[in-house]
Amino acid sequence: MRANYRLQRLFVPDALGQGADVLPDARQAHYLLHVLRVAEGAELLLFNGRDGEWLARVAERGRKTVRLTLAEQVRPQPPLPGLVFCFAPLKQGRLDYLVQKAVEMGAGVLQPVVTQHTQVAKPGIDRLQANAVEAAEQCGVLAVPQVREAVKLDRLLARWDASCRLVFCDEDFPTDNPLAALQGITERRQALLVGPEGGFSEQERAMLRALPFVTAIPLGPRILRADTAAVAALALIQATIGDW
Ligand code: SAH
Repeated sequence: MRANYRLQRLFVPDALGQGADVLPDARQAHYLLHVLRVAEGAELLLFNGRDGEWLARVAERGRKTVRLTLAEQVRPQPPLPGLVFCFAPLKQGRLDYLVQKAVEMGAGVLQPVVTQHTQVAKPGIDRLQANAVEAAEQCGVLAVPQVREAVKLDRLLARWDASCRLVFCDEDFPTDNPLAALQGITERRQALLVGPEGGFSEQERAMLRALPFVTAIPLGPRILRADTAAVAALALIQATIGDW
């Protein structure tokens, strides 16, 4: 079921159920009171990543607090998507964009991967998580992706579960069209790997191409920036073997 795009949606940590009261945190209360200027009785949507989506009404406005009362569940909780998005962390602005777009495109797990040419070794997990929540609020995703700790590429591959197909965006692929390779994938679980701005090293590319659970794909005749490559590859996966 698609999300309702008219009502404001907020992520809260609280358990959600019929008749329950929720007090949004100080930042959210400020936003509701002073940016949206909600009136008593105003409706909005709440989700917590566990209990589906709930219609809530503003029951009480304080100077710095807002009390919301839950009316009814409007969408049930969907399972977390199985798609694992592995990406070399980028500099902050592009990384924020990358995470937001990956959530919109239906990634279920966000896995930062450190490659030889990765410039940012340790992305702030809290910031990745905050971006994932914001993207989920914005586009109606109810299952907020899991953010994992950064891991080195060779370690990630060494402990890979071979029943999950890893689609590898290979900027040095000899042809341009990825469709046949994607349509040939039969595994029900899939992951995507996009490299850093500096690309993969020859050694990494050789290692990846040799692994039985890896499918290398091209993304056309042009070199894309990593954030563009991620959106393009996620769209291709969703349209060929995913949920589009
Ligand atoms: N600096 C590198 C490009 C890196 S682009 C170079 O000049 O070769 C960043 C990442 O996006 C790549 O590692 C790859 O995963 C993906 N990517 C970009 N363009 C691509 C293409 N045409 N085909 C496949 N993957 C691509």
